Amino acid sequence: MRLVMLGTAGGPRPVPKRAAPAQAIVHRGEVHVIDCGNGVARQMAMAGIARSDLAATYITHHHADHMLDLGALPLIAWTDGREEVIDLYGPPGTTAMTHDFLSMAAPEIAARTATTGRRAFPEMLRNTDIHDARVVRERNGLRVSTALVDHPPFEVALGYRFDSDQGSVVFSGDTSYSPALIELARGADVLVHEAIFPEALAAQTEGANAGTLMDHLLGCHTTAADAGRVAAEAGVGTLVLSHLVPGGDVVSEEMWRDAAASTFDGRIVVARDLQEIPVGSGADRMMTTAKER
Ligand SMILES: [Zn+2]
Ligand SMILES: [Zn+2]
Repeated sequence: MRLVMLGTAGGPRPVPKRAAPAQAIVHRGEVHVIDCGNGVARQMAMAGIARSDLAATYITHHHADHMLDLGALPLIAWTDGREEVIDLYGPPGTTAMTHDFLSMAAPEIAARTATTGRRAFPEMLRNTDIHDARVVRERNGLRVSTALVDHPPFEVALGYRFDSDQGSVVFSGDTSYSPALIELARGADVLVHEAIFPEALAAQTEGANAGTLMDHLLGCHTTAADAGRVAAEAGVGTLVLSHLVPGGDVVSEEMWRDAAASTFDGRIVVARDLQEIPVGSGADRMMTTAKER
């Protein structure tokens, strides 16, 4: 099982050195993409991950930084030669958004189908809207389960856990400190957790209704120190800080790490775009492979 960080900046506003939130799990030749921030297909190209192997996408919630390319990524996978089903998981409303995308892109899809003779794109998409905490997929040796995390004003915001005999990885999605996420992440090899740095948020709120946005950031997200607390309480091996807010250079890697290390004494990774994170029993082998490259 490979875990690749495709985009590591939180929020809808593009920043130069980090792309919008997205991660890939590559398992037995299948690619699973968690969140589809804007530009996710290009990030996959940069990481050398084949879009034609895209088996499923998993949206955590419907903020723009997580879902803007919800339809674009499968369509690009199709243009890259994918002909098998792509499963699209997400909170209630994801199926409707998929249909809206298909309407928007109807002329493109009709034209491309006519000129390439490809399988009809819409019939390749299989939607599952997820309302609660449960196992959502169990196939090809990989089990995917969810927890409801706390990210108001959304009624359903999801954390995802991926388990196989090669290891376990948990994604927080966007959330404030979440006891349900701690349960989901219990004993996992890797926890990818969102993080904010409150002392450096002034720049982030520029141009918005600053007071309201600041309240949202503080009430609906998690500080790096609290992400460390979640990792410690769940007993995970590695904490990966991602969906960094702010995503620019104002906060150094060391500052992020120190904040999380104040509450968690396991391995801490401050994620960078395109970084591969070693998982489970494959960790040593992958570290070697990475060095050989
Ligand atoms: Zn977000
Ligand atoms: Zn959000």
